[in-house]
Amino acid sequence: AHDVHIIGGGLAGSEAAWQLARRGFSVRLSEMRGSGEGHTDAHQTDGLAELVCSNSFRSDDDTKNAVGLLHHEMRRLDSIVMHAGEKARVPAGSAMAVDRDAFSEEVERTLSGHPNITVVRELVDELPDAGMTIVATGPLTAARLADSIIARTGEERLAFFDAIAPIVHRHSIDMDKAWIQSRWNKRTSASNEEGDYINCPMTKEQYLAFHQGLLDAEKGEFKEWEADTPYFDGCMPIEVMAERGLETLRYGPMKGVGLDNPYDTSEEHPQGKWPYAVVQLRQDNKLGTLWNMVGFQTKMKYGAQVELFRTIPGLENAEFARLGGMHRNTFLNSPVLLDRQLRLKSAPHIRFAGQVTGCEGYVESSAVGLMAGMMAAAELAGLDWTPPPATSAMGALLHHITGDAEAATFQPMNVNFGLFPPLHKVHKKQRKEAYTERGKADFGEWLGAMEAVPA
Ligand code: FAD
Repeated sequence: AHDVHIIGGGLAGSEAAWQLARRGFSVRLSEMRGSGEGHTDAHQTDGLAELVCSNSFRSDDDTKNAVGLLHHEMRRLDSIVMHAGEKARVPAGSAMAVDRDAFSEEVERTLSGHPNITVVRELVDELPDAGMTIVATGPLTAARLADSIIARTGEERLAFFDAIAPIVHRHSIDMDKAWIQSRWNKRTSASNEEGDYINCPMTKEQYLAFHQGLLDAEKGEFKEWEADTPYFDGCMPIEVMAERGLETLRYGPMKGVGLDNPYDTSEEHPQGKWPYAVVQLRQDNKLGTLWNMVGFQTKMKYGAQVELFRTIPGLENAEFARLGGMHRNTFLNSPVLLDRQLRLKSAPHIRFAGQVTGCEGYVESSAVGLMAGMMAAAELAGLDWTPPPATSAMGALLHHITGDAEAATFQPMNVNFGLFPPLHKVHKKQRKEAYTERGKADFGEWLGAMEAVPA
């Protein structure tokens, strides 16, 4: 018998296994690829920690970049993903890119050779009833296990075809053009005196140009493996709506009715200063630093999205925390289902890690795997595990997943400074440096205070 059963030998599962093994705990690592029983449509090999798409861990700049800061923190915690990434590194400027085969081989070699780790090629169909478990089966979790997770959590939502709307940093919205108000002044949250939405108004000319822009924009292609997954209700891409007719969006997400544009100085308003069309943004995290574009899920190419969405009045300088996109995605409604230690509240012997917890990206998935491994190790050792501070990249990510995100609109999220407690007093130009400096200092302090945890 092993101390911990890890299901899924992707990025998160591999990192969690390593963190447990190096602290002296034994691990059974179950990976379906290579068993002859399971595969995903994105993975091409049977190797552990395969990178399914790009070969980049994004920015390695730990002085002014959130993912760079995450690299820094993971290195300090002896991450296998960072180790193997360094060994397999290829030139990519300030980004960290790797030779994907060399990377996966290095992870596989290290883990299979470790005396505390048994890699077993097997498909797991059921969540175990007992025994400490870490589920790290990723966005393409095999169907039967996904059903078992649904049965255990009572959620309807787990694996769906996901159409994601872009998320904008609040500070980059021009509030001299946009304003806060709910339609008909109906507020849904007591916390916001003025209303729940940021409204970006459009004139008729602007709307017509925007509509044409949607029709003309370059769209991403659907992969075969996406073809038979159903659309999630209410997630029709905005460009598909635009194709249905000139007015479809004006009667849908871009409806201006019931919103009074305070910047409209003209006299002719029989019904109120309603804009011809509007783009609404809704708060996306408790900090109020991130706002999602309501109804703007899209499969437009990233470049096309940035170009077109910056023509929206008020969003000319928008910085996007994430862009819209579509793919099958399996993830839990973690803010509701998981406790602060990534354990299923209803079955605390089961912990989740990686993208299935609602983080997004190679580095983020690995980081959450790393934390899950540390948490499990501390629990086995009978120690309390204090989460990293919310001002660190790991802490910000963990806080977001396990409670700070809005459960109703919870979507997989990359690490970004919008997840960090805001630094209002620092000038915008120095803010990124200030976030990373504060993060490093607080993380270092946290690490120093953690001596009692086996390492
Ligand atoms: P994975 O790395 O997918 O690992 C999960 C593992 O669990 C897999 O090896 C799988 O075979 C195994 N498994 C699943 N079900 C079972 C089961 N029942 N029993 C046993 N084993 C099982 N992020 C980026 O940063 N850059 C990108 O370019 C990028 N491209 C992506 C492209 C696609 C098509 C997808 C779906 C995601 C992409 N991501 C990307 C997002 C994300 O970073 C990756 O999916 C990442 O691999 C997630 O890590 P993970 O460890 O959570 O899951």
